[in-house]
Amino acid sequence: MKSAFIPRLVNGPFGDPGLYVSERWRGRALLFDLGRIDRTPAAELLKVTHVFVSHTHIDHFIGFDHLLRIFLSRDTHLEIFGPPGIIANVRGKLAGYTWNLVDGYGFGLTVHEVGVDGRVRWVRLPATTAFTPAAQGERPFAGILVEQSNFSVHAALLDHRIPCLGFAIREQQHLNVRPEELEAMGVPAGPWLAALKDAIRAGAPDETPIVAAWRENGTRQQRSFPLAELRDRLIVVTPGQAIAYVTDVIFNADNAARIAQLARGVDVFFCESLFVDEDREQASRRYHMTARQAGTLARMARAKRLEVFHFSPRYEGNADRLRAEAAATFAGQIPEDHPD
Ligand SMILES: [Zn+2]
Ligand SMILES: [Zn+2]
Repeated sequence: MKSAFIPRLVNGPFGDPGLYVSERWRGRALLFDLGRIDRTPAAELLKVTHVFVSHTHIDHFIGFDHLLRIFLSRDTHLEIFGPPGIIANVRGKLAGYTWNLVDGYGFGLTVHEVGVDGRVRWVRLPATTAFTPAAQGERPFAGILVEQSNFSVHAALLDHRIPCLGFAIREQQHLNVRPEELEAMGVPAGPWLAALKDAIRAGAPDETPIVAAWRENGTRQQRSFPLAELRDRLIVVTPGQAIAYVTDVIFNADNAARIAQLARGVDVFFCESLFVDEDREQASRRYHMTARQAGTLARMARAKRLEVFHFSPRYEGNADRLRAEAAATFAGQIPEDHPD
């Protein structure tokens, strides 16, 4: 089965961090971080529906203006998620321009701010009112920022000497029907299978009746089965795709535990590694990680693949050194680090 999400780093490993994740069949995309994004074609940026900002250091946020400019004349809406302060940061950016000729524009932003108090505050900023808040509110935050029918986006508050968000996309598990079993039951496929999958996903009780209905020689046929019987006989569950994106964090016990949980079992773990292990003290002083530490986290999370990025310019021309160190730790060839 082809994966639903296609992730790629927006820039090379020495460029501004950012991850563009397109949804294969839907013509939509998610964007993680807003550093330099001007080398991404506008047509691709216009597919973005949700933007997730880890924090607003300039290499993660300078692209906001570029994105705004591309979207401004579009009759569409962008959802932006970020750490404490993101609402003021976005409004501060917007306040830098004059907005007297945009009434009638259909574009708008909703900014969602993850607080350290377990709440998400949001504010809706439409272009037509010169981005004056049109509505605002708050909701509890229990780790999930976006919940769609086919995937969810999770976030964890991490320590970068300021709160910084790490993210994970998790596709819903796939429920596949065994065609040979269906045939043996003598019941044709049909929309009732979608109802069965919905009931399984919703965690309906085992005895829930599922009615298979079809037409045979012009007459309507139907048979009813308990959900558990169909589930056990017909359905094969395969996990959905998962991707984690973590950048700009110090390697300490708290962060490590949160990241390992956030990135648990992901197919690909995008993790910063600004430094090599030899420069670990500098990494900690700057609240960043080394390649060895990224490898340690990927092992702890039991990620299937690790991709490191956000390399310090001091290693320009030596990207392989960072990649090799991360890969060797991930593979268990050099010892893991220990967060204190
Ligand atoms: Zn950074
Ligand atoms: Zn930073």
